[in-house]
Amino acid sequence: MTSASTPPSDVSAGVDLADRTALVTGAGSGIGRACARALAAAGARVHVVDRDAAAATAAAEEIGGVAHAVDLARADLAEGLPAGIDILVNNAGLQHVAPLAEFPPDRFELMHKVMVRAPFLLLRHCLPHMTARGWGRIVNVSSVHGLRASAFKAGYVAAKHALEGLSKVAALEGAPHGITSNCVNPGYVRTPLVEQQIAAQAAAHGIAPERVVGEVMLDRSAIKRLIEPAEVAAVAVWLCGPHTGYITGSSLPVDGGWSAA
Ligand code: NAD
Repeated sequence: MTSASTPPSDVSAGVDLADRTALVTGAGSGIGRACARALAAAGARVHVVDRDAAAATAAAEEIGGVAHAVDLARADLAEGLPAGIDILVNNAGLQHVAPLAEFPPDRFELMHKVMVRAPFLLLRHCLPHMTARGWGRIVNVSSVHGLRASAFKAGYVAAKHALEGLSKVAALEGAPHGITSNCVNPGYVRTPLVEQQIAAQAAAHGIAPERVVGEVMLDRSAIKRLIEPAEVAAVAVWLCGPHTGYITGSSLPVDGGWSAA
């Protein structure tokens, strides 16, 4: 039995994706890599998309997938990517921590390109195939910050709230065609993105880095531990499985109770 502090070992149990093709963005690291791994374990053919070519190649090799080195900040990102995608996981993202008045506009814009425009462009790219096949699954890796705000995260909170809206529109338009679209909303997950944030949060709050996880990151979470990437991947794969066809337009908190408070 899996306890509250032990991540699941078989996150793809009961899900058969043998005739499905998936595309996961930001799959070279962290949550995206865990999603790619879990989808492949369920039998899907997985396209691994990441700006970091070496990371994409390593992730694809591990799961027998296909690597694509693509900068998702580009407007022409979809060129060269396959359109025959049944499962789209919009996961790639980045963080920047700064007070609003000091938030660099170019960083704000980049975050929106990667976390809002890229999902929009990939939806445009993938929806015709899903519609023709009468089945599709869109999983948008949002955040508890798609539902709640935190100080010093203007770019991230605004982008994730926009992704929530995009996901809901895809749910409404996809419903007649067997396509579901949902957001998964993690709290703090043990990934390189969070490791990078610890130093930034320490500076923003004026405390030592070792106090950031306990006093800042987990302050609003009822469960006082970081989430493992596999726990988020488990929800993403579950949304592609046989029992979740009626779940659409939803936002599923994986946040240890943060948004319940
Ligand atoms: P990560 O930094 O470990 O991985 C992100 C991946 O995205 C990297 O491989 C990076 O190369 C790729 N990427 C970034 N910009 C890109 C671009 N322009 N083009 C192509 N690829 C690009 O991060 P993670 O923690 O796994 O985060 C993944 C997603 O989960 C993000 O959307 C993040 O906002 C979300 N999320 C993370 C946490 C967390 O605590 N780690 C919590 C909630 C939501």
